Amino acid sequence: MQTMTKTYKNLVGGVQKESSSNDFFEKYNPADKNELLGKFPKSNQKDLDEAVNQAKKAFEIWKNTPAPKRAEVLYKAAQITLEQKEELAQILTKEAGKPLVEARGEIQEVIDTYMFFAGEGRRIYGLTGQSELHNKSIITIRQPIGICGLISAWNFPSAVPSWKIAPALITGNVVILKPSKDAPMSGYRLVENLYKAGLPEGCASILFGSGDFGDLIVRHPDIKVISITGSTEVGKMVYETCGRMLKKCALELGGKNAIIGLEDANQDLLLEGVLWGAFGTAGQRCTSTSRLILQKSSWSERFVERLANAAKKLVVGNGLNEKNQIGPVITASHMQSIHGFTERAIKEGGKVMCGGKILTGGEYDKGNFYEPTIISSIKPNMELACSEVFGPVLAVIEVKDFEEAIKVANNTEYGLSLSIYTKDITLAMQAANRLESGIVYINAPTIGAECGGAAAFGGWKDTGNGSREGGVMALDTYTQYKTIYIDYSNKLQRAQID
Ligand code: NAD
Repeated sequence: MQTMTKTYKNLVGGVQKESSSNDFFEKYNPADKNELLGKFPKSNQKDLDEAVNQAKKAFEIWKNTPAPKRAEVLYKAAQITLEQKEELAQILTKEAGKPLVEARGEIQEVIDTYMFFAGEGRRIYGLTGQSELHNKSIITIRQPIGICGLISAWNFPSAVPSWKIAPALITGNVVILKPSKDAPMSGYRLVENLYKAGLPEGCASILFGSGDFGDLIVRHPDIKVISITGSTEVGKMVYETCGRMLKKCALELGGKNAIIGLEDANQDLLLEGVLWGAFGTAGQRCTSTSRLILQKSSWSERFVERLANAAKKLVVGNGLNEKNQIGPVITASHMQSIHGFTERAIKEGGKVMCGGKILTGGEYDKGNFYEPTIISSIKPNMELACSEVFGPVLAVIEVKDFEEAIKVANNTEYGLSLSIYTKDITLAMQAANRLESGIVYINAPTIGAECGGAAAFGGWKDTGNGSREGGVMALDTYTQYKTIYIDYSNKLQRAQID
């Protein structure tokens, strides 16, 4: 693997630039707190103004480049990403902790996303409509908006930026990316590779910084679109500012996702699905399964025991070691926050079926490792049933029937991903209709979003503001409509009057 430079610069319009702050933050490997992965600039207003000025000039060229030509950059970037797949996966595992197999999957998602939106370059459909008057046509087209500020979370440091960058660029916008300070390296490689793929200078920048710098991006008057992935708390603040400034804003926020297991479910399938949904990525996906809503049945009690036994066998450790199935959590303070949820759940009457502790000893002392944890006897209004933990902690809630299961599943302020396991098609479809979330899975866990035209990604309620990533719907964030009336009657025609 190529050794990474220890001190990063911003990549402004494609060129490496020191921050005028001359101040840095450090990023460590969550699996090994002695490993400093890099020092990154704490960007400031001056750095941002410079990137914006470059972006403004680039926008004039890029927006007038035919979309199929713009697509060529994305196709090429997909190819470069494929060539670098293993190296990029290693970087991702080092900075975000997820096991290599998952990191490879995330890089594949970047490739798929670039390919999909490159294809959109030959569509970006508008509408044609019928005029009420003779010899007149109406067409509505989509046009780019301008400079897009893209702010991302740490847990998908490659895929999530690509979900924003690809639809923004293909529709003719230019972008400024600010990755999370907890996973800044993958985004750097994404932007670097876009230039290797032929992106004209100025069309994309990456500037590093924390939330304060994110706020400067949101407030910049020349940045016309904000797309942010992060917590609901931060999303609400960002939305407020965007509202005051009448900026287009896409919010992809937190989740409190659940799998419903009905009494007729395929138990083995359910067990595998819950394990993967709850403990994949150490529970640090916005779609992670953090509640199992289990219908009381002849097998439900035994099932929770089986689940706990299976969770105990999951191998936790450094994601770079292929034998490990669950990586570290992102920071020591996040680990403490996760543990706090466990402790409070126990105080409220939760019964620990497995885990519940910070892992210590041997390699665990080097990083932030938390035991896969299952807590049963959770009631629908307890904290563990309602709040996002963002860690490997599963709450088991027992319900008496289908009606109660739907009610409990919807009993959260979030609405990202809900799932039901049943062999009864009637109940499966009723659930699909009544579950209050942007994504519903039937007989599959709450994680596993795909890339494709119909595969919109996003949530209801406090998970966002209705925007979608992935799917053709993502184009809505980055385009504005223009309706063109063409009158070829050669006379004045008055709508609603003649
Ligand atoms: P976070 O809200 O702390 O930070 C997200 C990003 O926002 C970071 O880049 C951060 O620097 C920036 N930020 C913080 N304060 C800001 C401000 N005032 N103005 C502008 N930017 C600001 O979230 P996190 O800890 O990085 O990520 C975890 C959260 O992200 C979880 O809640 C998770 O569910 C959510 N998430 C959602 C999705 C989704 O698509 N719905 C995907 C991944 C993660």
